[in-house]
Amino acid sequence: MTTVDDRVGPVLSRPEPAPGRLFIAGQWREGAERRNVIDPATGNVVTTVAEATAADVHDAVVAARAAFDDGPWARTPGRERARVLHRVADLIRSRADELVATESLDVGKPVTLCRAVDVETIAEQYEYYSAMAQSLDGATRQIPIPAHAYTVREPIGVVGAITPFNFPLILSSSKIAPALAAGNTIVHKPAEDTPLSALLMAEILTEAGVPDGVINVVTGSGAVAGEALLRHPGVDKIAFTGSTAVGRHAAQVAGESLKPITLELGGNAAHIIFEDADFDKVVGAVIKAFVFNTGQFCMAGPRLLVAEPLYDTVLGMLAQVVPGLPVGDPFDESTVIGPMAGERHLAKAQEYIALARTQGARVVAGGERLDSPGFYLQPTVLAGLPSDSRVIREEIFGPVLTVEPFWDEQEAIAMANSTPYGLAAGLQTENLARAHRVAARLQAGIVWVNDWAMLDPAVPFGGVKQSGSGREYGPEALDAYTRTKSVVISLA
Ligand code: NAD
Repeated sequence: MTTVDDRVGPVLSRPEPAPGRLFIAGQWREGAERRNVIDPATGNVVTTVAEATAADVHDAVVAARAAFDDGPWARTPGRERARVLHRVADLIRSRADELVATESLDVGKPVTLCRAVDVETIAEQYEYYSAMAQSLDGATRQIPIPAHAYTVREPIGVVGAITPFNFPLILSSSKIAPALAAGNTIVHKPAEDTPLSALLMAEILTEAGVPDGVINVVTGSGAVAGEALLRHPGVDKIAFTGSTAVGRHAAQVAGESLKPITLELGGNAAHIIFEDADFDKVVGAVIKAFVFNTGQFCMAGPRLLVAEPLYDTVLGMLAQVVPGLPVGDPFDESTVIGPMAGERHLAKAQEYIALARTQGARVVAGGERLDSPGFYLQPTVLAGLPSDSRVIREEIFGPVLTVEPFWDEQEAIAMANSTPYGLAAGLQTENLARAHRVAARLQAGIVWVNDWAMLDPAVPFGGVKQSGSGREYGPEALDAYTRTKSVVISLA
C-alpha cells in the first residue's frame, strides 16, 4: 500500500477494502443485508458492510455477556490486561498505514491529519489506559466499630458503545481502551457512514490477545442496530458520542432501565479574540479551530468573537488567508481540508450558508461547493449576521465560521455562553489575569488559551449544558467503566 514518492516522502494510495462483516464472539459473520460505503472524495461506492439486525445485536450482547460473566477477562489481573493493551498500541503503530488509509478513505480526512492525529492518538490512548489498568486500586477506610472496611473497583459489565462519523478511531478507542482496562466487555456500534476502521480494530484487538466475545462490532443503522443496543437488557452501560438530539433520546431510553450512560454530544464553541492577543498566534488558531477535520469536530470553534478594535483587521486577515487553504483529495499529502464526510453533511452546511445570505450576511470567504465530484465545500467565513441567527446559534458541523464584534470582556463572556452548548471554548490574550478570569466564567468542559484543540489522553474531555455529561480521557474515564464495592468484615 505504501509507495515512495521522492518529493514528499511516503504516500498512501487508496485502499480497496474487502466487504465488511459483523464481529461477534470472535467470529466474522455475514449480515442478512448490506450497506454501501461511499468515498466522500469521489462519491463512489468503495465497498459494502453487513447491516446488523436487532437479532445480530442480541447475539453480540449475549456473546459479550458470556465473556463477562464466564470468561477470563474481568478476572484477569490488571497487569496482564495492561500487557494486552500495550500490544494493541504496538499493533496500531505497526499497522498505521493501513489504519490511516482506511480512515481517510471512509471519512475523507487528509492522510497527513489522520496519521498525525487520529492514529497516533489511539496508540497513545491504549498506552495510557494500559498504565491505568495496573493501578485500579481500592482503599481501606477507618470506621469506629471492630471491622475491616475496604473498597474494590469492579468493572461494570457489558458496555454498549455508540460512536459518530467524524472521528471513528479516536471516539471508539476513547471508550474501548478504558472499558477494557477496567475489565468490561463491549459491543461497539460505529456510525453507519464510517464503519471500516472499527472492523480493523476488531482484528487488531483480537491479535493483541483480547479474548473472544470481549470486543464485538455490529455495523448498521442507528434506528435498528443502535436502538437495539440501547434497549437491550443485557447491556449494563451505554457510552454514547453523537448529536444532542440522539443523545437526548439515548438518555431517555437508558433512564427507563436506570442504565448508566455517558453522553458526549454536540458543540458550538466560541473563540474569543481580545485586543491584547498576540496576532501571530491568532491566525493559526482561528483557522485550525474551524477547518480542522473539515469543520466536522464537536470541539470546533465556529463562532469567532473579536474585540471591536480588531474586527476589521481580523476580517481582512481571513479574507486573505482562507481562500488559499488547500482543499482537495485527502490522499494528496499537501491537502489541509478534505471533503465533508457525506452528502447529507455537505447539504446541511450549504443550507446554513444559504440562510446566512438571506439574513444579509457578508460572505468574507468561500461559500460555494467545489465544482468537482465528491462532497467538497469551500472554507467559508460569514460576517454581519444578527446575533440571534440560527447560523450562529446552531451546530453547523462544517468548515463555516461566523464572526461577531464585542465591546468589552463581560459582553464577550455573555456572548460565548449564549448557546445551549458547552463542550469547548477558547480565548486569545497575552494578559494572564484575564486568561484565568475568563476561563473560569466560560461554560464549557474544556477551555483553551492561545491555541485550539490541545487534547491528550490524560486530559479529561466532555461537555456541560446540552453538550453532554460524564468525561472521557484521563483517570476520570475509568470512573465511567468501574463501580466501587465496599466490603466490611467484622473483626469481632
Ligand atoms: P448522530 O447522533 O447522528 O449519530 C451518532 C451515533 O448514534 C451513530 O452511530 C448513529 O448510528 C447512532 N444512532 C442514531 N440514532 C440512534 C438511535 N435511535 N439509537 C441508538 N443509536 C442511534 O451523530 P453524527 O452525525 O454521527 O455525529 C455528529 C454529532 O456528534 C455532532 O453533533 C457532534 O458534535 C457530535 N460529536 C460529539 C463529540 C463529543 O466528544 N462531544 C465528538 C464527536 C462528535
